[in-house]
Amino acid sequence: MSTKKAEALQKIAEDILRCRLCKKGGTGMAVPGEGSPDARIVFIGEAPGREEAKTGRPFVGRSGKLLRQAIRNIGLDESEVFITSPVHYLPLRGTPSTAMIHHGRKHLFEQLAVIKPDTIVLLGNSACVALLDGKVEITKKHGTQVKKDGRTYFITVHPAYALRNPEGKRSLLRDFSKLKRMLRSPRRS
Ligand code: URA
Repeated sequence: MSTKKAEALQKIAEDILRCRLCKKGGTGMAVPGEGSPDARIVFIGEAPGREEAKTGRPFVGRSGKLLRQAIRNIGLDESEVFITSPVHYLPLRGTPSTAMIHHGRKHLFEQLAVIKPDTIVLLGNSACVALLDGKVEITKKHGTQVKKDGRTYFITVHPAYALRNPEGKRSLLRDFSKLKRMLRSPRRS
């Protein structure tokens, strides 16, 4: 593992913990994200939920269990990916505002600049707002790739949506199968 990358990610996590703007409109523990500094694939959610705000770890509640299972199902180990979000505190009002996403993504951009993954998986709308700079019609665009600024993004639904909606769950699982094929494709640039 690259010690330099690990140290840079630790510094970003400390910045998040100290950041007063991140805390605005949020509650609980800061959740900076976790995983391998050398990850080839990064999963990006929305904001911590209650379980995450209690533990400081991303995706450890019900939607986290679904996400982590879907990751294992496509043959990846959780320890070889990185899981994070644009917003680092549990939002007091439920869904994070665009302003919260636009502030929090600055730390996220720094994480991505250190990790330099090949593929960034966008889990739902807030992740798309953060990385693709605008709302995406997830119901139409999930399961597709977007190439932007030399990066490959893969759009899928948020696991919390998949838990609320059986069709959403089917979409998530189908999208992850596509992702598996995409990661294996020799034609990937
Ligand atoms: N939802 C997210 O987007 N992130 C988490 O860490 C947990 C739930």
